[in-house]
Amino acid sequence: VPELPEVETTCRGVAPHVCGRRLLAVQVHERRLRWPVDPALPDWARGQVVQAVRRRAKYLMLDLERGSLMLHLGMSGSLRVMPAGSTRLTHDHLELLLESGQVLRFNDPRRFGSLHHLLPGEEALHPLLRDLGPEPLGEDFHGEALFAATRRRRVAIKPLIMNSHVVVGVGNIYASEALFHARLRPGRAAVSLRREDCHRLATAVKQVLGRAIEAGGTTLRDYVNADGTPGYFRQKLFVYERAGEPCRDCGATIKQRVQAQRSTYYCPACQR
Ligand SMILES: [Zn+2]
Repeated sequence: VPELPEVETTCRGVAPHVCGRRLLAVQVHERRLRWPVDPALPDWARGQVVQAVRRRAKYLMLDLERGSLMLHLGMSGSLRVMPAGSTRLTHDHLELLLESGQVLRFNDPRRFGSLHHLLPGEEALHPLLRDLGPEPLGEDFHGEALFAATRRRRVAIKPLIMNSHVVVGVGNIYASEALFHARLRPGRAAVSLRREDCHRLATAVKQVLGRAIEAGGTTLRDYVNADGTPGYFRQKLFVYERAGEPCRDCGATIKQRVQAQRSTYYCPACQR
């Protein structure tokens, strides 16, 4: 599953190929994605110049002249930039034909991805976006905001930081790793965290995501593959999927348990 760092990496990889380019056509070969692609979308998008590419949560936003395209990679989606005449692969469901002679192809075997178009002003109101919390790497997410969020809910800290109303894009891997670096047990009641714990955790979230983006960003060229080289394969993991192995800091055995239907990993000595 593409996590936030992979989406960010895809965003940065795609941007130089599409920014400033006119869309000659949007071809929809399979409209039955997670949500059906609006049949009006290709006509709406055609002829518009891509002004910017950015990420919001795990959505890739292509800002056009009269609104935005909003793409979600789903469970198995990836984007490739190819010469327009090159052979289309099975599961290449969407193609954005660019004036440059290149084509941006969206491949998605499991079809959990989606493509929407938004008019100016619709972004803040869109049902998929309007309830999202702050970006983890943005300035609206910080220790004080997290401390405030932990006062309200009687849940464990790990599901709380994975809750997109609190902060977006913190998946299982990054939540587990951030909690290790903040020295907090995943099962701790959120409300039991002190202010300084929340500051440490917010910093750790930013650091693990930031490092994963840097790691992923080094691998991109013309071929942009969101799930080919995830950032977390290129950085040292401290607890995630390391059950039974020694802690890299103290040597204690890393433990695994199931929490909110997800596997979670922690060091019983380092994390309290
Ligand atoms: Zn340890």
